Amino acid sequence: MIKTDSSRVHLMNERKVERIMRILVTGGAGFLGSHLCEDLVSEGHKVLAVDNFYTGTVENLTKIINDPKFEIVDHDICMPFHADVDAIYNLACPASPIQYQKNPVQTTKTSVLGAINMLDLARKLEIPILQASTSEVYGDPAVSPQFEEYWGNVNPVGIRACYDEGKRLTETLFFDYRRQYNVKIKVARIFNTYGPKMQIDDGRVISNLIVQALRDKPITIYGDGTQTRSFCYFSDLLSGLKLLMKTEALIHTPINLGNPIEFSILELAHLILELTNSNSKIQFVPLPLDDPKQRKPSIKKAIELLDWKPSIQLEEGLALTIQDLAARI
Ligand code: NAD
Ligand code: UDP
Repeated sequence: MIKTDSSRVHLMNERKVERIMRILVTGGAGFLGSHLCEDLVSEGHKVLAVDNFYTGTVENLTKIINDPKFEIVDHDICMPFHADVDAIYNLACPASPIQYQKNPVQTTKTSVLGAINMLDLARKLEIPILQASTSEVYGDPAVSPQFEEYWGNVNPVGIRACYDEGKRLTETLFFDYRRQYNVKIKVARIFNTYGPKMQIDDGRVISNLIVQALRDKPITIYGDGTQTRSFCYFSDLLSGLKLLMKTEALIHTPINLGNPIEFSILELAHLILELTNSNSKIQFVPLPLDDPKQRKPSIKKAIELLDWKPSIQLEEGLALTIQDLAARI
């Protein structure tokens, strides 16, 4: 047996982790998926994106569409899929409440059938697979901050259930594929993430409010605006996802990824009005059903296990997102 000192082993591990791979990104034409594809291509990897263009667009991929390392396939992950790849990021699923509630049955199918198809592929190829799960698994949480051991408070028959319960069942499938078939799974619970490339009509709060402010239209606040969210800039989130994928150690828990600084929606609105120098007025409209009252991640596990925490503050991230949306509207 060849003896190696520990620094050499460390170096070998690093090389192994950094090797060029062929990576499958489902939802690769979406907001987060397209940024992830760009990142992976710029790191030298070959990327195969799969998307049915439900909320994603080819425009999101302008930077890499002609790169020989990048390929995109128009495919619905509810149907089985095969490709020879070294790792899978499973991001396909509409994330905006307005979008995922348009066709709730399809949303649940995407989560559940899509996960089964992707897990079967990971099992067959014996490769790691990362699931883009969500803070929605905590529903309208009774504890704050939300830590990974909290089981959540979800209305299973409400209008958000197609997404929340779909994602919860996906987590169940991921952990059962590990227990039953030894698939190397990684589950990230993503808290509200925003940034350039969000669709103008996406419907989520940051893009909605910025577009309204830039157009001097009323700023729609659902309910009284005291509900809170914690907003993470996309580049911070992606570094967390990539670290989780690269971690060789088995992590037997989902990991929260998000920015732990909590803002009320009213505070967010005032910040956007100030940064856009807008003449818009605030307009209160009814709160949608089951809208969670608070969101704030505990990121203790991400700090300990991944050495990750976000670095972009809301004001900075908003300024960059405003620049991008202003250029597009
Ligand atoms: P997005 O809607 O911009 O992207 C989703 C992508 O998946 C789109 O390109 C869409 O066309 C594609 N898609 C949807 N159904 C599909 C199907 N059946 N087959 C193939 N492709 C399909 O949303 P996003 O913000 O980029 O979110 C990406 C992932 O991250 C989602 O799984 C979402 O649940 C998760 N997530 C996002 C956030 C966030 O704040 N952005 C928070 C929590 C979780
Ligand atoms: N919201 C709002 N005005 C909008 C869009 C959203 O007040 O134009 C609120 C929404 O009710 C929720 C919060 O902003 O309380 C975040 O909504 P989003 O759809 O971005 O994501 P969620 O965290 O609810 O999935």
